[in-house]
Amino acid sequence: MEKTAPHILVVGGIQGDEPGGFSAASLLATKYTVTKGTVTIVPNLNFLSIINRDRGIHGDMNRKFASLKKSDPQYDIVCRIQDMIISPEIDLILNLHDGSGYYNPKYISKLQNPNRWGNSVIIDQDTFDAPQFGDLGNIASFVTQNVNKSLMEKKHEFHVHNTRTGEGNKEMAKTLTWFALGKGKPAFGLEASKSLSVADRTYYHLSMLESFFDYAGIEYTRTFELNSPSIKTALSDNIYIGFVENRLVLPLNDVRSKQLGSIPLEKNDVACSVNSPILTAIPHNNYVQVHYGNNRLTTFKADWHEVDRSIDHMNVLVDGVEQRVRFGDIVFAEDSISVNSREGYRVNAIGAVVGNGLRVDESDVKIYRKDFQQRFSINNEASAYRVEIYREKKYVGTFIVKYQSMPEIKVASPLPVVKGKESDLGR
Ligand SMILES: [Zn+2]
Repeated sequence: MEKTAPHILVVGGIQGDEPGGFSAASLLATKYTVTKGTVTIVPNLNFLSIINRDRGIHGDMNRKFASLKKSDPQYDIVCRIQDMIISPEIDLILNLHDGSGYYNPKYISKLQNPNRWGNSVIIDQDTFDAPQFGDLGNIASFVTQNVNKSLMEKKHEFHVHNTRTGEGNKEMAKTLTWFALGKGKPAFGLEASKSLSVADRTYYHLSMLESFFDYAGIEYTRTFELNSPSIKTALSDNIYIGFVENRLVLPLNDVRSKQLGSIPLEKNDVACSVNSPILTAIPHNNYVQVHYGNNRLTTFKADWHEVDRSIDHMNVLVDGVEQRVRFGDIVFAEDSISVNSREGYRVNAIGAVVGNGLRVDESDVKIYRKDFQQRFSINNEASAYRVEIYREKKYVGTFIVKYQSMPEIKVASPLPVVKGKESDLGR
């Protein structure tokens, strides 16, 4: 990344109940590639509040930038983001919010008036003395005009909102953007409307961000189309959480929200790897809750084990064709799987009744979808199940078998194994 184009800092999730902003920042972090210039993203600034779906579990973080006691539980986080803002390489700061209704300089209706915040670009003053991007008002106008070219509905129209913070706006004087200006850094607040769905808000946030990038000469590519349905898919598809160094990887796009039952984990270790910055696992007594942004996706009981790391895969006949299946993988089977036995290791297809149901080791036997009791599935579609490997009492690893008929695969080329997703994990 060359340094001829500027370096933009994007902040999402300063308030925990504004999912449009942190979802946009999360997609920016995971599905965009910046090809010119630099973008640093903090997608989940107030992560504990995000998990709790609360504006701020320790008060409003965006009122903590004028002064803050060292005893404040968020003191360290606020100091860290302040250090990033001050850092000499940052040229411009964009702080993402979801606001109520639709800001309009004129009173149009209860939802569209000067006291609303949604669908606006916020500036603290019109101009500002900075080497670049000091022309706050004109830049904000450029961005709103650009976004207004691709509105989903006329009433979503964006406006520039100048809070005139320096003229005695005491509330706004406590915010991140005003702090930035005080340090000589141009900064904008980006607001999408809380009246919109999360996908729609995210669409407008990304539209604003891309307009800023265009203005600043930042070049980028993204892996999805910029429209609300594609964004909805991008936010829900291909999200994974891995445990025990990815010996278990759970696909979460259609995960059962009810308890998943008992899942083996290494003793008292719920360290996870994720492929989204707004995804995490929170231990709660002997349970683990998987959170994605404002949503708790699922819960399971931790079945504490010692872990045997002597092997990293099993050989599996998938519809009769042998494959090397690593722990953490998903195998797609149309008909059946059969796990080749390995001396000293035991196979447990969770929830399957195989043969007479009395086997302790379910290797070297065909396992069909009908063999599984649906309540053991990890997804709502009841098509995906866990296959766990043990060595005596120690846990070795898990792979997921997903049964699906061929027409659903939709590709002609063989794609029976998705390899673990490790490359996406652990960012
Ligand atoms: Zn906000």
